[in-house]
Amino acid sequence: MTEARIIDGKAFGQVVRQRVAAEVAELKREGFTPGLAVVLVGEDPASQVYVRNKGVQTEEAGMLSVTHRLPEETTQQALLALVSDLNADPAIHGILVQFPVPAHISQAAVVAAISPDKDVDGLHVINAGRLASGLPALTPCTPLGCMMLIRDVLGDDLAGRRAVVIGRSNLVGKPIAQLLLAADCTVTIAHSKTRDLPAVCREADILVAAVGRPQMVKGDWIKPGACVIDVGMNRIPGKEPGKTRLVGDVDYAEALAVAGAITPVPGGVGPMTIACLLQNTLTAAKRLRSA
Ligand code: NAP
Repeated sequence: MTEARIIDGKAFGQVVRQRVAAEVAELKREGFTPGLAVVLVGEDPASQVYVRNKGVQTEEAGMLSVTHRLPEETTQQALLALVSDLNADPAIHGILVQFPVPAHISQAAVVAAISPDKDVDGLHVINAGRLASGLPALTPCTPLGCMMLIRDVLGDDLAGRRAVVIGRSNLVGKPIAQLLLAADCTVTIAHSKTRDLPAVCREADILVAAVGRPQMVKGDWIKPGACVIDVGMNRIPGKEPGKTRLVGDVDYAEALAVAGAITPVPGGVGPMTIACLLQNTLTAAKRLRSA
């Protein structure tokens, strides 16, 4: 039996970043520099790494990168005041507040405060509504990256494909389902109350797992030849005591023998997310410039 094609998100992410950088260079020659502001509240170690990587890659793409690091005890009022300043700042075209924020701050209030035109995370209700209505929107980065990978494997014409998305979060599951629907797929959204999930998954030509449960999707859940996109990022105990390793929501070893193509974890969907953040910042900047 032939093994699945392994979808290289690291290489594809680099292609996207280079494409963005080339367009940014062109805009800069015209005297216009796209700018991204990232706001981090508190000391969460994983968030610090994400924010640092975003800053580095934004600069590498030639954009203006501004990082605001605020202490854990920052009030919601102070954070919303900063967001309001960034909304009004003409040098900033994208605003990203790194989540999770400390428990005393409402994530929903932060999302609602960001101008939809600068909402490069695509979480504002205006952008979610525009996406659901088939209007131009800023789309959440991870789903955007997943679609790029799917199109790279299957081509641009996805009409009539059966797609199953496991997960219905506003960040991942719902927007991926909307994008697949917009591409004329026949889409099923599965979740924790779905009955006979393995049978639902076996219908999928395109299977997207965005659950947060390590290696849940087994080989016999997958239709032979299917394109499998594993969004999950789960830490499980490693082989050596005290060490952990990152795995997806799909049992990779089993899936390799059945799927037509599959994203590894790490190195699949993950690297596409920052690339798409840069893409979204460029999109937002061009729209704001021509508004
Ligand atoms: P989430 O908000 O926790 O949503 C998880 C979804 O999975 C929910 O809709 C839930 O259903 C569903 N679910 C949970 N258990 C299930 C089960 N046993 N069977 C079927 N469905 C089940 O998570 P998320 O933010 O969407 O993230 C999902 C995963 O993607 C996580 O591992 C996260 O770390 C990862 N992620 C990766 C990236 C990246 O850049 N690679 C970006 C974002 C997220 P209900 O709605 O019924 O509860």
